[in-house]
Amino acid sequence: MRILIVEDEKDLAMILCEAVKMEGYYADVAYNGTDGLYNALSGIYDLIILDIMLPEMDGIKVLSEIRKNNIDTPVIMLTAKSTIQDRVKGLDTGADDYLTKPFDITELMARIRALSRRREKVIVDERMKYGNIFLDRETYELCREEQRIKLTKKEYDIMEILMLNKGKAVPKENLITKIWGYDADVEFNSVEVYVSFLRKKLNLLESSVYIDTIRNKGYTIKEKQNA
Ligand code: CA
Repeated sequence: MRILIVEDEKDLAMILCEAVKMEGYYADVAYNGTDGLYNALSGIYDLIILDIMLPEMDGIKVLSEIRKNNIDTPVIMLTAKSTIQDRVKGLDTGADDYLTKPFDITELMARIRALSRRREKVIVDERMKYGNIFLDRETYELCREEQRIKLTKKEYDIMEILMLNKGKAVPKENLITKIWGYDADVEFNSVEVYVSFLRKKLNLLESSVYIDTIRNKGYTIKEKQNA
């Protein structure tokens, strides 16, 4: 799970970032509304922690732009003011939850877990099935009937993105951004290495699904056609 933190107080942003990483999530930080919106519109995040009082563009404006662009990523608003008006405005704009500063980090983590559970329930299974295989989000296993093969974290992430984008070519750049982050120093061929591991595992499972390389476009999963 990848979380975007939009918070201009650098110390707090750092604390949030560390806390989120301790929980095993990936995290990116933006320090103003403009950068926050730019990152959010990439659509690569599973959750956004958004401060309301931000330089350049306030959190309410950022959130309304995110929703205008049909991005339904869950958003937790951080507000310094606990006025009812502020809360209502945030929730009306499409926030999923809010916390009033100062807040306890453990409280924030509990809210994140609750939102990610809610989200996973929505996405579950159907989207993780294709042909005769499915991806188990709980165990990080690629499965065909009773057969299961453990995937590494990176392999799982790649497979999940391909599953969620059936019928579409996923550019390598998108895989890198989603899995390694914006500033990652990842060579394209390391993505190829993970894809080749995945192909081996799909073969071992005698999967009806394979990962196709589309020249200059990226990767896509397809079902084998019986000749
Ligand atoms: Ca602020």
